[in-house]
Amino acid sequence: MKIKAKLLLGMGLLFVMIVLLTALGSMYINKLSADTKNILVANYNTLDYSRQMLIALNEDGLTNTSIAKFETNLNRQRHNITEAGEKELTDELTSNFEKLKLQPGDTTLQSKIHNNLTDIMLLNMQAIEHKSSIAEKTADSAALWIAVTGVVCFLIAFTMLLNLPGNIANPIKELTASIKEIAAHNYSKRIHFEEHNEFGELANAFNSMAQKLEEYKNSSLDKLMMEKKRIETLINNINNPVVGLDAKKQVLFMNDVALKISGLKAEQTIGKPVQDIAVHNDLVRSLVQELFDENTAAKEKQEPVKIYADNKESYFEKQVIPINITPTGEKESLFIGNVILLQNITPFKELDFAKTNFIATVSHELKTPISSIKMSVQLLENEQIGNINDEQKNLLHSIKDDANRLLKITGELLNMTQVESGNIQITVKPSSVSDIVQHALLATKTAAEQKNITLQVNLPEPLPMVMADEEKTSWVLINLITNAIRYSYDDAAINISVKTNHHQVEFSVTDTGQGIAPQYKDKIFDRYFRVPGTQKEGTGLGLAISKEFIEAQGGTIKVNSDFGAGSTFTVVLNEA
Ligand code: ADP
Repeated sequence: MKIKAKLLLGMGLLFVMIVLLTALGSMYINKLSADTKNILVANYNTLDYSRQMLIALNEDGLTNTSIAKFETNLNRQRHNITEAGEKELTDELTSNFEKLKLQPGDTTLQSKIHNNLTDIMLLNMQAIEHKSSIAEKTADSAALWIAVTGVVCFLIAFTMLLNLPGNIANPIKELTASIKEIAAHNYSKRIHFEEHNEFGELANAFNSMAQKLEEYKNSSLDKLMMEKKRIETLINNINNPVVGLDAKKQVLFMNDVALKISGLKAEQTIGKPVQDIAVHNDLVRSLVQELFDENTAAKEKQEPVKIYADNKESYFEKQVIPINITPTGEKESLFIGNVILLQNITPFKELDFAKTNFIATVSHELKTPISSIKMSVQLLENEQIGNINDEQKNLLHSIKDDANRLLKITGELLNMTQVESGNIQITVKPSSVSDIVQHALLATKTAAEQKNITLQVNLPEPLPMVMADEEKTSWVLINLITNAIRYSYDDAAINISVKTNHHQVEFSVTDTGQGIAPQYKDKIFDRYFRVPGTQKEGTGLGLAISKEFIEAQGGTIKVNSDFGAGSTFTVVLNEA
C-alpha cells in the first residue's frame, strides 16, 4: 500500500474514531437529557399542579381566589395528560370539582377530589420511578458503548502508533545507509523494498542510479578521467613552464612552474581570457604575443625568452604548439587550442656564453702570433734577411698559405663571437657600390688566378650608391666570391653583377660549380653547417656571418642553385 494511502487511512481512521466517539457520546447525552426532560415536563409538573390544587382545596372555605387557583392548575393539568389512566382521573377530578363549586360545603365531594388528586400524584410518581429506571438503563448502556468504542479506538490508535512511524522511518534509514555506501564508492550497493509504494519506486530509482554509477565507474569515461588526472599531475610535475589555452584563448591550465615564474595564482588564470591576463603580466604577454600578432610570430621564433627565475636571469625557449584533433567519426581536424611550452635553456646558454668567450679569447690571442708569422714569412720571402733557395721558397709559400687560412679562420671565429654576443658594430651610410666590388675583387684576385678562374664583372651605369656598412658588405662579397672560387672547377668563370631594382641594389655572385642540393639550401646559412661530403676546408661560418651582417644592415641574402650546374648568391640592400 502506498505511503500516502497508509497515512490517509491512518488519519481517516482516527478521524472516524473521533467522530464515532463524539456521535455516540452526544447521542446518549441527548437520550438522557430527553428522558429527564420527559420526567420533568410530563410528571413533575403534574405533581406541582396537583399540589397547588390540594393547597387551594385545603384553604378555609371555597373562596373565589381558591377556586380560581384550583381552576388554573386544573386547566394546566388537563393539558399535561401523559400517563395511561391519567385522563380518566383528571376528567373525574374536573366533574367532582364542578359539583363542589355548586355544593361548596359537601365534604364527600371534597374527599373525592382529594382522592382524585392523590391518585393522579401516585400515578405520576410511579411514572417518574419507571422513567428514572429507563434513564438509568440509558446511562448504563451509554457507559458500556462509549467504553467499548473507546477501547477499540485505543487499540487501533495504539497499533498505528507502533507501526506507522516505523513503516515510514525504516526505509528512510535503509536508504540513508545505502546513499552513504554509494558516497564511499561502493556502487554495488542495492536496496530491496518489496512493497509497491513510494519507497518501492524510490528503491527502483536508487538501484538504477547505483547501476549507472557502477557502469560509469567501469566505463572508459572513468578511465579517461583517471588519465586526465594523471596527465594533469604529470604537467604539474614538469619542471618547465607549461600553459594550455583553449580555442577561444582562455587559459585551461598553467602548471606550478608557470604560475611561479609569472607570479600568478591559479584562480587568477584558469578560465580567464589570456589577453586579459597579458594586460597586467609582462611574461604572459611575451608568451602569447605571437598568437595575436603573426608578424611577431615570425620574428620571435628563434629568440629565447629572458625571465628572472631561480634568482637569476634565465633563458627559456618558447614553443607554441597548436593542438588539432580529429573528432571521432569526423574527417576534418578541429583546432582546440594551443599549448605553450617553455624549456629552460639557461645551462646551455651559460655554456654557449662560455664557449663564445673562449673562442673570442683564443681567436684574439691567435691573431697576433699568426700576423707575426706572416710578417716573418714576408721578410724571408723578400730575402731581406738572406738568400733562400727554391725549395725554401716553396716551404715559405705553403707557410704563408696556411697562415692566411689560419687568419681567415680566426677572423671568422672572431666575427662569429661578435654576432653571438650581439656586439656587431654596424655603421650604415651611403657607400660606393664600385668601392665595395673593387675591394672584393682585389681580395679574391689571387685565389681566382690560382685556379685560372675568370671573374666577370657587370656593373650598371651610372653606378648607384648603396646604404651599407662598406667594410662588412665587402667582407660578405669576398666570402661569396671565395666560396664561388672554392666550389668551382678550374678554368671556370664567375659572374659578379650589380643591378638596381625598385630602389634596391642587388649584388649577385654566380658560379658554374657543383651547386647545392635542394635539401641544404636553407641550412647553409646556419652556423657551423657544411654540406655533408664537402671536401674543401672550412668552418661553416662564412654564410652564417654573411647573413647576420646583411640582415643587420636591413638587407637580405638568398641562394638559387641548380644542383650540379652552379649557384647564385644574391645580396639585396637599400639604395642610398
Ligand atoms: P665554409 O665554406 O667555410 O664551409 P660557408 O658558410 O661559407 O662555410 O658555406 C657553408 C657550406 O655551403 C659550405 O660548406 C658548402 O658546402 C656550401 N657552399 C657555400 N657556397 C657554395 C657554392 N658557391 N657552391 C657550392 N656550395 C657552396
